[in-house]
Amino acid sequence: MDFLGAGDVVWEDAPGEHFTGAVRFGPLYSPQDPEDLNVLAVHFSAGARTDWHSHPGGQVIYVTEGAGWVVKGDGTRAEITAGDVVHAPPGEVHWHGARPNSHMVHLSLTWRGATEWDPRSVSDEEYEG
Ligand code: MN
Repeated sequence: MDFLGAGDVVWEDAPGEHFTGAVRFGPLYSPQDPEDLNVLAVHFSAGARTDWHSHPGGQVIYVTEGAGWVVKGDGTRAEITAGDVVHAPPGEVHWHGARPNSHMVHLSLTWRGATEWDPRSVSDEEYEG
């Protein structure tokens, strides 16, 4: 068994080319094989969000702090706050991020390969809905 205290999680800046605003990753479980489960804590500062993307094996999101949105390609928007859970099916294009007036932290569980990024950011118009 490996035990990691809160101070042992090595937070890093999320790759700027796939995010708008300040986003930090806290890797909780990084598999050797990219097909296996990947568990990441993600901290979005107020107003920060992912680019449009999908996950080849799907994604489970569990919000632990703050308030945000998750939005599907057709514009359907869900308001998410601490304790809420999102199941994104494999291949479904979406984005997630913090609201303008709150940070958000969520766990991200993915498997069966790396995130597939669309070559477009979420515009301010798309963000504000
Ligand atoms: Mn996602």
